[in-house]
Order: sequence, then structure tokens, then C-alpha cells
Amino acid sequence: VIESPVVTRIDFDRPGRQVGHLQLPRSKDTAGWASLFIPILCVTGGEGPTVLVTGGNHGDEPEGQIACLNLARELSAEDVSGRVIVIPCLSPEASLAYTRSWPSGENFNRIFPGDPRGTTAQILADYLTRHLFPISDAVIDIHSGGRSMMCVPWSEMHPVEDPALRRRTAEMMLAWNADYSTIYIDVAGGGLLVGEAERQGKPVIGTELGGGGQVTAPIHRLAASGLRNVLRRLGVLRGEVQTRRSLGLPETVILSATEIEDYQLAPVSGLFETLVGLGEEVREGQPLGRIHQFDIGAPPVEIPSQAAGIVCTLRAIATTDQGDCVCVVAQVGDRSELI
Ligand SMILES: [Zn+2]
Repeated sequence: VIESPVVTRIDFDRPGRQVGHLQLPRSKDTAGWASLFIPILCVTGGEGPTVLVTGGNHGDEPEGQIACLNLARELSAEDVSGRVIVIPCLSPEASLAYTRSWPSGENFNRIFPGDPRGTTAQILADYLTRHLFPISDAVIDIHSGGRSMMCVPWSEMHPVEDPALRRRTAEMMLAWNADYSTIYIDVAGGGLLVGEAERQGKPVIGTELGGGGQVTAPIHRLAASGLRNVLRRLGVLRGEVQTRRSLGLPETVILSATEIEDYQLAPVSGLFETLVGLGEEVREGQPLGRIHQFDIGAPPVEIPSQAAGIVCTLRAIATTDQGDCVCVVAQVGDRSELI
């Protein structure tokens, strides 16, 4: 067993509120023997579950980072029954650069389980895998569409096979009280943070809150209220659990994007012209958009929807490479499959 090179003064077994860093060895041309500091909060109060909350997995997704920072600043041991561990920003340099990936080019959400002898990002992933997931009873990883995608705001989970784990996970997902709740598959080829936590048997949820390079006040409010309500639902944060009904809202729409065909990829490079709106119902074959190349004599290339459903994600920027995801069309699912 190789020991993790991550250094922290946080004692995860100590009661009370602790604010500190994970220090990751990271040499650079302007500093030897240097570390990258990742801020972390651990608040322990009384009996209850341990919940790990992470934001800023992708640097261009500020919604979760801000919700986590606000929560982390306010949370006291009196608020907590159990233990809440918050890492507001897993990828601080990417966040400051406003990029999805780390400056090294690594996508932090594709490198799990990580490697204690690997790059700085791999060392951090390994620390989560071997030190933080094992002590957690549930994991929340907050994402958004980032710069390139816009999503109807949703909370999300993978299709979980084990019925008991599926139910616990679905309860967390629904407690976000978002307008949409999405069941999704990994089209990215693995290495996800949530995938590794799931492999360890943890109930795990994520979100896709907006995106497209802008964050509105309602999205910030949904990030903050959803996160807190999931923590209350898990019993680790004191306070009354709210439901969409208690908030006077209609039921959440369960979406299912579990087929590879739900993810529409650009057939050619060019400028993407969107022809549908977020939340719009489309029929099979309906053009979702078209891609303009620069040949005036040739018509733009249409992208027909491969299925009927609800447009839950759209490409936010026109400049598009062949193979980029331009749209996700999800099917309306059934709550009874979850709980
Ligand atoms: Zn993300």
C-alpha cells in the first residue's frame, strides 16, 4: 500500500468545526518544494452520518463552488448531527482560469480512482478514493453545464441496480427539489468521481445546474437551497426537510437519459444553430439544430432528434467540432422506478 502524499491538519475524528487545507505536492518552475492548497471544512457534531460535499470538480462550473463556500462559512457544530466534509473547489486553478480542465489539461472528473504516485490531480483523486469516500455515508458532487452547455437545472443519479441503494440515492436526488431529476449514464468513458464513490457502495448524487457561461440568481438560490435540503434529508443538518409540495411547486419531472442515442453529437464541425429550446418537447426526427460550414453553396447540416423527448441540455456556444455534444433529449421517466 502506497501512502498518500497529501498533508492536512484536519483531524476527521475531532468534534467541532475545522477549516483547513489538503496540501498536494506540486513543483513548478517558480517554486520547488511547493504545494497546491485545496480548502476543506470538516464539521462534526453529535451522532449521525458523514456526508462529503464537493464543488468545482470542473473549473468552469461556479454554482456549486459558491453554494459550498456559503455553506462552509456558515456551518457550525450545533447545526450538524454527524459530520459534514465540504471541499468547495476541487480544481482551484481551473476555476481561476475559468476552464473545465486543470492547467495540466487533465479533466479531474475522468481520472478516478487516481494514483498516489501520479500527477497532482491524480494524487487528489486518490486521496478522495482512499481516505474520504471510505469514511463517507453519502457523497454530493455539484456540477453545472459549464461554459459550453446549458441544462434545465436538475439533480441527478446513475441507474443504480441495488434496490435499497437506488431508493436512498433517489431520496437524495429528489430532496434537491429541482424542477427536473435526471437518471443518466456515463457517455464519457469512466473515471468519474461519482463512479468511484458508487463503486464503494455509497449513495451519490450530482447536479447539472444551468451553465452556458452565466449564473442567474435563481440558479444560485437553487444550488444553496437544494444542497441544504439534501443534507437535512440525510439527517446530518438540523432543520425541517422541505418538499416541492411544501414549497408550493408541482412535482419534479423525472428525466431519463440512459441511452447513447439521447446524447446528440455534431456530425461535422462548424457553427451550431440551435432550433429548439431548453425544456421543449421534441418528436423523433425533428431538427434540433443545424451546423453551418463556410461554404455558401452548401446547405447547413441538420441534426434530427434520434428520439422523442424533452430537450434537457443544449450546446451554449456556436463554434462546434465534429463529435461535440450539441443536445441531450431525455425521456420522461417514472418515479415508481426509483422509490
Ligand atoms: Zn462538471
